[in-house]
Amino acid sequence: MSKQPILMVFPHPDDETFALGGLLALHAAEGTPVTYLCATRGEAGRNMGQPLRANRETLPDIREAELREACAVLGIDDLRLLGFRDRMLEFENPDDLARPVLEALRELRPWRVYTYYPEHGYHPDHDAMSWAVVQAMQQLPSEERPVLLGTVFSEAALAALGEPDLVVPTAAYGETVRAAFGAHRTQTAADIARVEARMAADEAFRAQVEENRRNMAVKLWIYPLETNGVRGEREQQQRQDLHPVP
Ligand SMILES: [Zn+2]
Repeated sequence: MSKQPILMVFPHPDDETFALGGLLALHAAEGTPVTYLCATRGEAGRNMGQPLRANRETLPDIREAELREACAVLGIDDLRLLGFRDRMLEFENPDDLARPVLEALRELRPWRVYTYYPEHGYHPDHDAMSWAVVQAMQQLPSEERPVLLGTVFSEAALAALGEPDLVVPTAAYGETVRAAFGAHRTQTAADIARVEARMAADEAFRAQVEENRRNMAVKLWIYPLETNGVRGEREQQQRQDLHPVP
């Protein structure tokens, strides 16, 4: 089995867990290394924790520690923080955002790259970072480009992008994903407590949550680099060659 790495690029601590948690746990179980470029330390997060765990000054350090814990849970041992400012990525020079991605592509020669699907990230930082990934990959000779797979923020993408090119069931890693969620305490503790309280009190709700957990899956779409985003036959062909693991 190949041990070629995967490169993952997101702007915020917690994007990895929300978007791809179960798939990352699967890669770890298979022994596939993942390098994670995280552009910011999430310092613009509105959530300081409930009960309060941070203030504006301490939030970046706390979120970095939470991210490191989540990465340990998910089996990511190569986390690289790029040091950009949260909520400011759309104002950065795109070349500056793309540069560290291109460097990582040249260094690691990944077989696959994960990010948000451009224009389906539902946050200006998400889209700015995914465009930077596209820009970096287009600087590689086309025969050296790995497959770029985008995740989206809501099912609304189905209307725009069609059926996902890769669907990976991840229910087997539910416990791991929930532990990684839990590690992002400032952002998730209040929601987790709310869901748990309602599950204890409301049988129908509990059944629905358990059903959702059984159906957990990560969905990804190939971004067509050759045609600048116009999806066509080439992706259908590539789809045949996609496997959840190398
Ligand atoms: Zn984010």
